Amino acid sequence: MEITVARKRLEEMRDDLDRSIAVLQGEQPGATSGAGYPQDPADAGSQLSEADRTEAVLKSARGQRDGVLAALARIEDSTYGQCVDCGQEIPEGRLDARPDASRCVSCQSKYAKRLR
Ligand SMILES: [Zn+2]
Repeated sequence: MEITVARKRLEEMRDDLDRSIAVLQGEQPGATSGAGYPQDPADAGSQLSEADRTEAVLKSARGQRDGVLAALARIEDSTYGQCVDCGQEIPEGRLDARPDASRCVSCQSKYAKRLR
């Protein structure tokens, strides 16, 4: 994949994530609280789980955004397309599917196992 194409795709991903994060943050109950009316405990319970879900989605969107920003930084450093662990070139097909991929398939699977 051309580096200019990769950069463009990554910038689009970053912009999409920025929009999603802004929307999700707007949906957090904390942002609109202060209405001051008493709440039914059952309602409060369902709002809590809603907030938890939003928080989980936000966390994953922020994580993806970090990955996209890191990939853009690697383009600037001219290290884009190299595995950050072993330094080998990441296969074209993998970058095409995941322009923000920072590891080759085998390092990524080792990394994922370490996280568990
Ligand atoms: Zn690797």
